[in-house]
Amino acid sequence: MTQYVLMNPGPINVSAAVRAALNKEDLCHRESEYFDLQDSVRRKLLDAFQLDKKDHAAVLVTGSGTAAMEAAFSSCISPAGRMLVIKNGVYGERITKICAAHGIPCDCIEAGWTERPDMDAVRSKLKTGKYEVLAAVHHETTTGLINPVKELAIAAREAKVPFVLDTISGLAGEELELGANGPDMAVCTANKCVQGLPGVGFILAKRSMLARMATFPPRTLYLHVPNYFEHQEKRSTPFTPAVQIMYALDVALDELMAETLRGRIARYKMAAKILREGFERLGLAYLVKPEWRSNTITTLKLPSGRTYDQLHDGLKARGYVIYAGQGPLAKEAFRVANMGLISEKDLRAFEGHLRAVIG
Ligand SMILES: *Cc1c(COP(=O)(O)O)cnc(C)c1O
Repeated sequence: MTQYVLMNPGPINVSAAVRAALNKEDLCHRESEYFDLQDSVRRKLLDAFQLDKKDHAAVLVTGSGTAAMEAAFSSCISPAGRMLVIKNGVYGERITKICAAHGIPCDCIEAGWTERPDMDAVRSKLKTGKYEVLAAVHHETTTGLINPVKELAIAAREAKVPFVLDTISGLAGEELELGANGPDMAVCTANKCVQGLPGVGFILAKRSMLARMATFPPRTLYLHVPNYFEHQEKRSTPFTPAVQIMYALDVALDELMAETLRGRIARYKMAAKILREGFERLGLAYLVKPEWRSNTITTLKLPSGRTYDQLHDGLKARGYVIYAGQGPLAKEAFRVANMGLISEKDLRAFEGHLRAVIG
């Protein structure tokens, strides 16, 4: 099978070393060797994102990003609590679906899918004292729009409302304050900008938030964050983790630290710049304003007379996998992501292939 250049927003192209990690020894997850691996991954997550073990902890959850997301958002609120959700894309909407599935009442601050939320509306809602959690998505993968996370964190702190952030497609791709002034809980995954493989998500949480959540009754058996946290703190695991994916994440974190977080973000920024210069020469139109665009996803209007399937199939024949628009944007837009290990040569060659396919 051809090794495609993956320009979808995860799973991404990984290094040979990350892929080779899958071939390490078979391992029982109740032996000390597994707990050494689990401890190593949890420590490297704090180191890679410059967090202090005194104040923060990493919690690993086996499953796709949505498993970590559902764990975080269903575990962060008391039985009587109400959530305020920022909704300007598919993933903000997914938070509301998680609330619905778990019987958590929520209200939304809605914005158009290429717009940012009205911060005055957020602040005045938070001031009502009705909310126990503010929930938002850092990088709306739907469009490649970056939400105003810093302002949201300030608004939440001023209202003394915990802030829980889905940064699944943002972490290691965008600048993000994660320390004392950051979100109380950040939800992430191994197989986007962290450059690991799909199957493990993780949560970077303030210990104060983890202690607060431990007082709430579990809403689910598998996805209760305090259960994972308690077990992982004492070198245990409640269920069978994706052992091989954890091996790969351990290597991916070494690579991230070798590249440095700043270096990784700068590489993605440069990759997006290379691609966007090409899109401009091709006369393609963006959906998101330049100042709100992420470093890793570009949403473009489909050129007139071309369907997504034509672009996708033409590019796939040339070795590149692009991504469709989502929801209401499916018919009018397509997405090009630059997460993962993509060579500069492949990035630069993309313009010519896209030109040929557009015709
Ligand atoms: C990818 C993604 C998810 C999770 O998707 P999975 O398919 O479950 O891994 C959640 N939120 C955002 C913002 C994402 O980009």
